[in-house]
Parts: sequence; structure tokens; C-alpha cells
Amino acid sequence: MKQERFSFKENTLYMCGHSLGPMPKQAQKIIERCLKDWAQEGVLAWNKSDWIHLPYKMGQLIAPLIGAKEDEVIVCDSTSVNLFKVLHSALRLNPKRRIIITSSGNFPADLYIAQGIAHFNNNIELCYVPDDSNNIIESLTEEVAVLTLAHVDYRTGLIYDMREITERAHELGIIVVWDLSHSVGVVPLSLTKDNIDFAVGCTYKYLNGGPGAPSFVYANRRHHKNLVCPIYGWIGHRAPFTFSKSFENTPGVGAFLGGTPYILSMKALEGALGVFDDIVIERLYKDTINNGNYLIDLLNQKVPELVCVSSRVLGERGGHIAFKHDQAYAISRALIAEDLICDYRNPDLIRLSMPSLYLDLHDMQKASLIIEKVIRDKLYQKAEFQQKLFVT
Ligand SMILES: *Cc1c(COP(=O)(O)O)cnc(C)c1O
Repeated sequence: MKQERFSFKENTLYMCGHSLGPMPKQAQKIIERCLKDWAQEGVLAWNKSDWIHLPYKMGQLIAPLIGAKEDEVIVCDSTSVNLFKVLHSALRLNPKRRIIITSSGNFPADLYIAQGIAHFNNNIELCYVPDDSNNIIESLTEEVAVLTLAHVDYRTGLIYDMREITERAHELGIIVVWDLSHSVGVVPLSLTKDNIDFAVGCTYKYLNGGPGAPSFVYANRRHHKNLVCPIYGWIGHRAPFTFSKSFENTPGVGAFLGGTPYILSMKALEGALGVFDDIVIERLYKDTINNGNYLIDLLNQKVPELVCVSSRVLGERGGHIAFKHDQAYAISRALIAEDLICDYRNPDLIRLSMPSLYLDLHDMQKASLIIEKVIRDKLYQKAEFQQKLFVT
């Protein structure tokens, strides 16, 4: 199946889908078709190929993967920008309160967005709490407007209990904004059923949407009547082509749309989402955990100096596992030189993901042999692997 649906460099073990998924062949095909439409139709393609509605169409394709209704999801902009918009909207829904809570180990991009909001809004205060669920739940009070968390920890892969935390926050009237960047496409999600308020997430990780693929926004129907977006984007206008002088947002999640949609990126994403047509996420997740646990077992036996910092338990870990080593960066580079694509996170983690969409137990055996060789023969000690590249 993997050879059928994805393009890989030959003999490569692609274990970096937590950062950028591999290229689905269908994405290439659909982009090529889109380029043809552009060449032949030019501006007419906005209507003829219905480009203008792609943000909604992509939202409808993502909805079943996150357990949402079709009108609760749209695709636009980056996750950072969407988080900015959604946090502002959530604050508006709780106008008498002024505190945003997040975890101190949240993904730095998300911390920066929250810091910016606090910096530019004098009355808003950002508070950090330690990462574990109990600390987070204990920190919640009736003064808190918004709680924002990443569902899966980008270092360890640890998963928060989204339903439980949201429920406890709701008891105190707090709106919760989840970042699903490391869950969507690999971890089963049921946003509508779990009564989740808002979520954002990347489409270029486990959804394989391509470099710079636009992000998604989920807003529960319950909030649709009261949505305000701090960016008055004309594509989010109730009737953009009346060119009316004053902004009036379209009802529903479309209110979060900004400017002109990124059509080439949307088309790559359309091809990528097609891969999930016959995929059951629960099954994919279970097999992914099995892949990872098998690799952990093999490495525990053969390379005990690599310390796994991820949980082995179904439901407690996302799609990747991380190993600690004081030479983590050089090891990650040496593994890449052996065609095992992985990455490094400061200061001492090697991350490997193994979505069963394109990796199986046999691949885990191959990976363990490569890792064993790199560590045993100290291949990572080569000078060229010591110098950090800009992107790690
Ligand atoms: C990958 C990731 C991002 C990246 O956001 P961009 O705006 O697409 O760069 C943000 N948040 C989390 C939790 C992520 O994992």
C-alpha cells in the first residue's frame, strides 16, 4: 500500500511524518490538474473549478477525521495565525474574564501567539502551569477566560485527556482551545461528541498535505452565532462580491476566513486527504502504537543507552516516540545519512514516527538495525554531524 499511495526516495525509511508527511501520489496528480486549469481557464477557474469554496470543501473532508460536523471545520492560513484568531474569539465569548492559561511546555509557536495576545491587550494576562493534567485542572478558576493546550506533546508524544480537561473547564465557564497538530490523522478524535469548543491544527504532519499546507479551524456549532474574528477578512464576509464598504462576517466557522485561499496548497491537501477515504483512524492508531512499541522493545534489548521518554500505553501517546541521548542531534544526522529520516528536538531528543499508513512491523526491524549500527559503530561521531543545520 505504501508504494501505491506515497512517493519516497528509494530504500528510505520515512519516520518524520510528525513534522512533514511524505508526498501522496494523488497530491501530485491533483496539483498537475490544477495547473492545467490555471493555464487554460485563468481567472475563470474560480467559478469553473469552484476554487473559491475549497476552504469549506477541505473542512468537510477533515471533519470526519476529527469527529466534527461538516459545517464546523474550515481550512485557511497557518496554525499560528488560526490560533491567534481563535484565541481572540474565545476571549470575546468570556468578556468579563482576563486570564489565559496554558502549559509551560506547550509548543513554542503556540506560546508565542498567546504571549503576543497578552502583550498587545493590556487587560489580558497569560499564566503558565506545569504540564501535567492535575496541575492544569487545579489551576482553573472562575477568573480564567480561556485555556489553551496542545493535545499531544511535541517532545514526548504524551496525550492529554481532552474530554476530561474540557469538561472540568466548562464547569467553571472556561472556553478551551485545543491544538491538534500532532493528533489529526493519527489519533482518534471526537470533537463534537466531547463538546470541544475550538480547535486548530496542521495539515502537513500526519495528514501529509505538503510543505506549508494550510491549517484547519474547528468551531463547535454552539458558538457559531457569536463568532467574531479579529481579522476582518473579505473571504469571511457575508457576501464578498457585493464589495460593500463595511465588514459583516459570514455566519458559522467561515467567519475565520481571511484573504484569498491558497489554491495550489489546497489542491495538494485535497489529494492527501483522499488517502484517508478508506482508513479507520482507530485501526490506524492501534497499528501505529504497535509499530512504536515493537521498535521500543527491539531497541531496549539492543541499544539500552537510548532512553525512551514516551508512554507505551494506547491512548497515552500520539504518533511518535522520542529517545533521549546526549548526542541526540548527531545521532539524528547519522540516521538520516543511513536513509532513516527522523528529527531532533532541543536539547537531547530524537523523534521517530511510525504511522501505519505507510510503515509496518517489518520497517521497525529495519529501523532498529540502522539505529543499532549508528550507535554501536559510533557513526554519529563524524565531525559533519556535530554542526547544527538551521532546520532540525
Ligand atoms: C507543528 C505545530 C505548529 C506549527 O504551526 P505553523 O503555524 O503551521 O507553523 C503549531 N502548533 C503545534 C502544536 C504544532 O505541532
